[in-house]
Order: sequence, then C-alpha cells, then structure tokens
Amino acid sequence: MKICIDRTNCTGLGICESLAPDVFEIDNAGQLLLLREDADDSVIDDVRAAIEGCPTEALTLVEG
Ligand code: SF4
Repeated sequence: MKICIDRTNCTGLGICESLAPDVFEIDNAGQLLLLREDADDSVIDDVRAAIEGCPTEALTLVEG
C-alpha cells in the first residue's frame, strides 16, 4: 500500500507524526515529510492510526 498526502488539506500540525513517527515528520519549515511511501506490515497499524487521527482527512492509502 502506498501513502498519499493531499497537501492542499494538510495543515502541518503533525498529529500523524506523533502517531506514526517512522513514516511522517514535520520539518523545520512546518512541511510534512514522508519518510517512506510504502506502508508495509511493520508500519501499517501506525499509518492507519494516523489516517484516522488526521483532522483534515489529508492522508489516504492506495493499492500498489
Ligand atoms: S495529521 Fe493530517 S493535517 Fe496534520 S500534518 Fe499530518 S497529514 Fe497534515
């Protein structure tokens, strides 16, 4: 599964980073960085928590 960010909706507050720190990081400029695009078994639960926790629905998972 691939992680997609809708950057027009992302506010950069970093709830996703707190829920999935191996995948998401807010840089010093307040931009969301994707540390990996692939959501494999090692991170999928954290990624799903981040998707649920994102207040603007900016995160999705797609096949591939
Ligand atoms: S939780 Fe959602 S809105 Fe907040 S930084 Fe992450 S993707 Fe962006």
